[in-house]
Amino acid sequence: MTKESNKLDFKYRQKTHNQLKANYNSREKKNLNDFAHLEDFLTWYIKQKKVCHYCGLTESQSQEIVIRGLLTSNRFPQNGKIKQGKSRGMWLEVDRKNPMKPYSKNNCVLACYFCNNDKSDVFDAEDYKHFFQNRFEFLKQLLEKNK
Ligand SMILES: [Zn+2]
Repeated sequence: MTKESNKLDFKYRQKTHNQLKANYNSREKKNLNDFAHLEDFLTWYIKQKKVCHYCGLTESQSQEIVIRGLLTSNRFPQNGKIKQGKSRGMWLEVDRKNPMKPYSKNNCVLACYFCNNDKSDVFDAEDYKHFFQNRFEFLKQLLEKNK
């Protein structure tokens, strides 16, 4: 399939209720939830603009990039098809502003795959914003501050 025909095929899909429930349950299993219950998480999720907190990429834009194969990864859908373990980039991800604290209304934002993967558990939201603006400057200053 060529990229041109993929372009015609792309249609934005929201995350389903079942997917959200599975995400919630896996965090619950790992004891990382501070949302009182599933409904509480869903209410929070529905209210969020589907835009990356860090870079401003929309969920639909991210989805189009991975579905059309404009960028590829072993974690992205392959040839426009989503499979188990191959859906990164399709939907914005729930990111913990402070990765040391559990998932809660106050500690969560939506982030694109690119930012969330980059931020990892290395940065909190504040530091990541600075890092994001100028990586080298941030790292240099980190060393300077800690001389
Ligand atoms: Zn982003």
